[in-house]
Amino acid sequence: MDLTATYGFDTLQVHAGAQPDPTTGARQTPVFQNTAYVFKDADHAAALFNLQEVGYIYSRLTNPTVAVLQERVSTLEAGIGGIACSSGHAAQIMALFPLMSPGDDIVVSTRLYGGTVTQFSNTIRRFGWRATFVDFEDLASVRNAVGDRTKAIFTESVCNPGGYVTDIPVISEIADSAGIPLIVDNTSATPYLCRPIEQGATLIVHSTTKYLSGNGTCMGGLIVDSGRFDWSASDKFPSLSQPEPAYHGLKFHETFGELAYVLHGHAVGLRDLGACQAPMNAFITLLGIETLSLRMQKHVANAVTIAEWLEKDPRIEAVTYAGLASSPYAERARRLYPKGAGALFTFAVKGGYDTCIRLVDSLRIFSHVANLGDTRSLVIHSASTTHRQLTPEQQEAAGAAPNVVRLSIGIEDADDLIADLDQALTRAVAKT
Ligand SMILES: *Cc1c(COP(=O)(O)O)cnc(C)c1O
Repeated sequence: MDLTATYGFDTLQVHAGAQPDPTTGARQTPVFQNTAYVFKDADHAAALFNLQEVGYIYSRLTNPTVAVLQERVSTLEAGIGGIACSSGHAAQIMALFPLMSPGDDIVVSTRLYGGTVTQFSNTIRRFGWRATFVDFEDLASVRNAVGDRTKAIFTESVCNPGGYVTDIPVISEIADSAGIPLIVDNTSATPYLCRPIEQGATLIVHSTTKYLSGNGTCMGGLIVDSGRFDWSASDKFPSLSQPEPAYHGLKFHETFGELAYVLHGHAVGLRDLGACQAPMNAFITLLGIETLSLRMQKHVANAVTIAEWLEKDPRIEAVTYAGLASSPYAERARRLYPKGAGALFTFAVKGGYDTCIRLVDSLRIFSHVANLGDTRSLVIHSASTTHRQLTPEQQEAAGAAPNVVRLSIGIEDADDLIADLDQALTRAVAKT
């Protein structure tokens, strides 16, 4: 299906990137559970390997099922192309890889997913990369943290789990004036609630493990490029602007223009780092995306109902959710995230750490898991699990203090979820 930008989101989430299989007529995108593709002849093979022709060589680089997923998400994000990866964390490393050299740094928000905080504080140092963590509410600090060797600014749109929504247009201006890309992790918002490229972001990363696949079935990650960044405007991005030794001195940006970053992601990133997405995972994720808008509407409606109920409950100290009128970010959420501020929020329980542990153990519908974005409602006590490796200061900054519980609200009946929280709170508080 030829999809110009005129189709609406609900049409695109079902059709973008897909067409009936040309040989069989199969209507649903087939799972190309396949490793290699026969070359038409030796010239065809040479052209593919020289990047003179686009086509399939080997599924570490591209696979037809995975390609549909890349096209689908990139279209929904208003980007020009995508790179599917084995997980959200792989997508983050893969997104930085073309931008970074040893000694370079990135400026990142303190309010990020706990696993990302760990990846950026420790693991990337092994590559000689460094992250400077700053509070993105303090714009002067963000500006001051950007130095000569800073190659990107990184944040989440709707933050996990802090009840915070980033002012993407304002942060993107800082990135623009520094001549560096803004990378936005759009996992918690999904392109249904937020399209960061339209607000000035350069690159999007996703954990498709969450709302995009939607049913808690498979790992995956994805990078989308806006195609708008001029990689040759400075000497900051030699991997994209300078000759690439592994392709006979080819300059990606000069040769491929706006597609430079996406092609580099496949031809160098996936080829050499190998963090490719499995075709079956791409297929399952495509099934999920077909209903993304419908699920997100229910996720958000349930989240607002439940957050409002919790906020009035005397056993609760505070609810941190940008979808509540009482949130300090309510005005920003309405302006930049008009369809909702996600379905992920935290609340602080009176009584602290032990009460939270009892609460989590007493819930019946909510599952205690280290995941989010499932059709099922999920709960986690971040301080004892996902944010356990962080220092108390990092926990506090990430909105994961010891008396805080995070909910990922599913698409069940809101009344049933409220009844479950009510009975679990009664048990948790009774023992204090
Ligand atoms: C889960 C998650 C990740 C990591 O993704 P994986 O698929 O688990 O590797 C990154 N960012 C956010 C916001 C997440 O929720």
